[in-house]
Amino acid sequence: MAIKMDGLALAKKLKEQAREEAAQLRRRPGLAVIIVGDNPASRVYVNSKRKDCEECDYYSEEYALPETSSQQELLELIGELNRREDIDGILVQLPLPRGFCEEEVLLAIDPGKDVDCFHPYNVGKLTIGQPVFQPCTPGGVMELLKEYHIDPAGKRCVVLGRSNIVGKPMAMLLLHAHGTVTVCHSRTPDMKEIAATADILVSAVGQVGLVTGDMVKEGAVVIDVAMNRNAEGKLCGDVVVEEVEPKASYLTPVPGGVGPMTRAMLMLNTLTAAKNHLKYLK
Ligand code: NAP
Repeated sequence: MAIKMDGLALAKKLKEQAREEAAQLRRRPGLAVIIVGDNPASRVYVNSKRKDCEECDYYSEEYALPETSSQQELLELIGELNRREDIDGILVQLPLPRGFCEEEVLLAIDPGKDVDCFHPYNVGKLTIGQPVFQPCTPGGVMELLKEYHIDPAGKRCVVLGRSNIVGKPMAMLLLHAHGTVTVCHSRTPDMKEIAATADILVSAVGQVGLVTGDMVKEGAVVIDVAMNRNAEGKLCGDVVVEEVEPKASYLTPVPGGVGPMTRAMLMLNTLTAAKNHLKYLK
């Protein structure tokens, strides 16, 4: 029976460490979160970020722009926050309402304040193995692996999903950790067979019931990144737990696995940004 990888407990520990480290700095790390429009899911995420900042004793600001605001107004706000000495991290909650150009918005954030690690500069640094920030969700997965003494080196790693937010940076981090990585996506014809070869299987697709028992090798580590709602409206991942749990050696629960780790990584990135800025600010 798979060991449950407790993301809640590890996230709590990492946030406590971040709080202790932040307390040693000359001033509190500062995070600005921008939300545009009133998407209820985005609102939940923004509230949880505020709570995390409180837990870590960071300074935080929230900007709620109406859906009717313009791209220019949003860019001007980002410009202002870029220039602020007390703000280390800027996060624009995605998705943005229709009509906004996300690409331009993400490019406008000072890469030194890009705590989500979405700016092409930071993606490039990550790709060449010199990351400034950790991509939050994949970085959280790597921390979970480390906590359970699972070393990807020499292992066969399969990532399901190739998004810029999860799949691609996940593959990159596993590769940097010396795993042999295969990425599957919607055009992969033999995904089941490939998945079944994995020592470490990461599913980041967003499809209830996708990862069945026959896709998991005996003893594999299975990381379920997805956050779906099942037919009863309950939060669940991609993995069919009752089929995979008896075969896997480790499995992340949903909720309580990767989700809390993503939030903790944002706090760690904000701390990194603050340390970097304080080096230059006299
Ligand atoms: P996304 O942008 O929709 O990407 C999904 C990926 O899955 C795409 O690469 C897509 O392939 C692939 N895919 C779709 N159907 C497939 C299939 N039948 N077989 C194989 N691959 C398939 O989603 P995302 O933003 O990466 O998020 C993925 C999941 O993770 C979602 O459930 C999301 O809620 C969750 N998530 C969780 C956290 C967390 O903190 N736990 C954070 C972020 C996201 P194509 O590229 O070919 O379309």
